[in-house]
Amino acid sequence: MKALIVEPSRMIRNVFTSLFSKNNIHSVGVETAKEALALLESGPVDFLCFSMQLSDMTGLDFYALAKERGLIGRHPSVMLTSSQEAISTTALNLGITECFSKNEPAVFEDYVNRWAGKATAKLGGTALLIEDSVSQAAYLERLLQDMGLRVSRSTSGQDALAQASQRAFDIVLVDYMLEGAMTGLNVIRQIRELAGRAGKVPILAISSFDDAARRIEMLRSGANDFVPKPVVPEEFRVRVGNLVQLRQALDYLEEQHKALYEMAMRDRLTSVYNRHFITERAQTLIQEAKASRQALGLIVLDIDHFKRINDTHGHAIGDSVLVAVAAAILEQVGEQGVVARMGGEEFMVVLPGADEFASTSLAERLRAIIEDLEPSGLLVTASFGVAQLRAEDSYETAFSRADMAMYEAKRAGRNCVFSAEGR
Ligand code: GH3
Ligand code: MG
Ligand code: MG
Ligand code: MG
Repeated sequence: MKALIVEPSRMIRNVFTSLFSKNNIHSVGVETAKEALALLESGPVDFLCFSMQLSDMTGLDFYALAKERGLIGRHPSVMLTSSQEAISTTALNLGITECFSKNEPAVFEDYVNRWAGKATAKLGGTALLIEDSVSQAAYLERLLQDMGLRVSRSTSGQDALAQASQRAFDIVLVDYMLEGAMTGLNVIRQIRELAGRAGKVPILAISSFDDAARRIEMLRSGANDFVPKPVVPEEFRVRVGNLVQLRQALDYLEEQHKALYEMAMRDRLTSVYNRHFITERAQTLIQEAKASRQALGLIVLDIDHFKRINDTHGHAIGDSVLVAVAAAILEQVGEQGVVARMGGEEFMVVLPGADEFASTSLAERLRAIIEDLEPSGLLVTASFGVAQLRAEDSYETAFSRADMAMYEAKRAGRNCVFSAEGR
């Protein structure tokens, strides 16, 4: 990356040079239009900025001359003026990208920072390039790699779809004409039908046909953007960069959202799920169990004489007992079910697929483990109620049977398991 600064004042030249070098862009400063033209003749630049007031001609004349000689590429060409002269329209008509006032250096600085950020950004991430022409694919792959993307290539729609469904790419680039029976249009439509993140990948369509109808159809089918072939590398970079950055910003938001959701669903003290979550989750699991005619068990457990622990040893010890009991339940239940704290010292376990024997055996195991746990050196026990899902049950009726069985266990002397079934 190289910038050319054409500016009569040495002081301003130095300011600009340091602005570019802060952005890791090499810049060359010259004083006159003549020197600048000679430099442009010797090789292309990536950014051109020049003053309206040059010693040998105006900035407008300099730009017009450079353009006439074919020295202006696809880089930004910006002009800096020292007054609020009304030359902006003339300049823009001539092809100058933007005009900035030297009186507002911060605006120009912002522009350079933003441009450099885009021009030099290493994106990171993965791209799937679907292109049947070997030479085109090699060329585009190099552009993508220069941006910091890891590239997987594919020449046919079938193969591309297999790849897109197996791996989560940050961008898919698809050519219209491909090897085999599928066109780029088919690929786009089928990618959009993939479930989850794979189906939402940004798609950049590429085609050598400058045909508006086809372009519109690709966008309508789910492409996010379009570049015509042969691609203009600068344009290609910006379009790819925009899509990848958008994707990454959305990924970040989704992660935040998940983290917040997890937090809202968890009990602060014990980290098991809270009552709010289990109420929703249990309803879903109950529906699923009914639909697939599978068994489902519910265990409700309540720590015995917990008030005494608090009264005798203090609330902090009480808390640590709750944490230890919750962890023991969680470890024992593992993947078999979902554990929640219903409030106070009452917990619930939902066990999809568990019949009465499995539910009561697990409850009995939990009872023994809690009895042996001795958190903070204290003997702690709990009383258990077990219920099995019945065809006519709602979440509330099933839960209430388990809860009632738990109170029977309390009445029977605590530290035992009662089942609501078979009675
Ligand atoms: P039972 O065997 O009949 O269940 O008696 P219990 O003492 O366990 O039941 P009770 O409902 O009388 O008392 C529960 C106590 O749990 C009262 C309350 O202060 C305490 N508690 C509720 N939530 C917390 C908490 O988050 N931390 C602590 N340390 N105590 C809590
Ligand atoms: Mg092709
Ligand atoms: Mg209790
Ligand atoms: Mg209680």
